[in-house]
Amino acid sequence: NVKGSYLTRYSYYDKSMRERMFEEQMIVRDMEFALLERQFCVYLQPVCNLKADRIVAAEALVRWQHPTHGMIPPDRFISVFERNGFISRLDRFVWTEVCRFLQAQKQRTGTVIPVSVNVSRLHFYATDMLDFLLGLLRTYALEPEMLRLEIDESAYTDNPHQMARCVRELREHGFIVLLDDFGSGYSSLNMLKDLPVDGIKLDRSFVREVGQSARAGTIMEAIVAMVKKLAMGIVVEGVETKDQLAYLASIGCEDMQGYYFSRPLSEKEFAEFLIRKQGGLEMDD
Ligand code: C2E
Ligand code: MG
Ligand code: MG
Ligand code: MG
Repeated sequence: NVKGSYLTRYSYYDKSMRERMFEEQMIVRDMEFALLERQFCVYLQPVCNLKADRIVAAEALVRWQHPTHGMIPPDRFISVFERNGFISRLDRFVWTEVCRFLQAQKQRTGTVIPVSVNVSRLHFYATDMLDFLLGLLRTYALEPEMLRLEIDESAYTDNPHQMARCVRELREHGFIVLLDDFGSGYSSLNMLKDLPVDGIKLDRSFVREVGQSARAGTIMEAIVAMVKKLAMGIVVEGVETKDQLAYLASIGCEDMQGYYFSRPLSEKEFAEFLIRKQGGLEMDD
């Protein structure tokens, strides 16, 4: 029954639209209180280096532990906060939490592995991102290399000149800047050409496809070769299986992040993971 299925589909779609609208209203209504009440927390996902056989970095990923809706993943609220501007404050909260964590790690263990944070495109319109970051380094007595900044492609299409200037300025102050989700958008190559970044994070869509498509593999190998020729770093995102890992290693990738090694962990879990992997990565599959 064609008409019936159409109606079913329609009402389903309609309902999910309404649900999305309600969810967005809830998100906007609760965000201020959530920040105040520390319902946002920072999880850390290890970045592993195969050659060195150890954890060389981590990425900070925000989570929202909502009192009635439970754990809300960032994909549900980041875009809402980018539209209403709240992301600027949330990002600063995350950066501050990361610096506090880095200082604690430094005091406890004497060594620090760098942590990267996501930087929303909105910061490239504000003029005080650099001052805020420099203030954090002073407050927590950290070197700029310890805080890596991940920026994504969409920011570049918005405002290429402003972004290029920001990136240059950040790097002059010693920050490490990485292009996030590299290859997922339309301006990857332009960005690579125009932005003097330290490295890229290869989007996980590549990793997902390399097993199935020879073309994806060819493109991936070319990207790896190109990035190396530019003397930049490359972190592969979304490594989930041993086969993917073996393939990536065979084409010269060293730094990897993904569920194969670890999901994003709470601060405490992450510190334990570091200790457990001190002698080497050796994952049990
Ligand atoms: P992203 O920056 O590309 O972060 C990587 C995402 O991939 C994370 O999702 C991570 O949990 C997920 N991931 C890691 N390994 C695997 C894997 O092996 N398989 C699969 N399928 N996924 C994997 P998450 O935590 O849900 O974050 C989603 C996005 O939200 C992030 O993508 C980032 O763009 C944004 N985001 C997260 N935290 C922040 C933040 O503090 N500030 C801003 N502005 N954006 C954030
Ligand atoms: Mg990222
Ligand atoms: Mg990102
Ligand atoms: Mg990414």
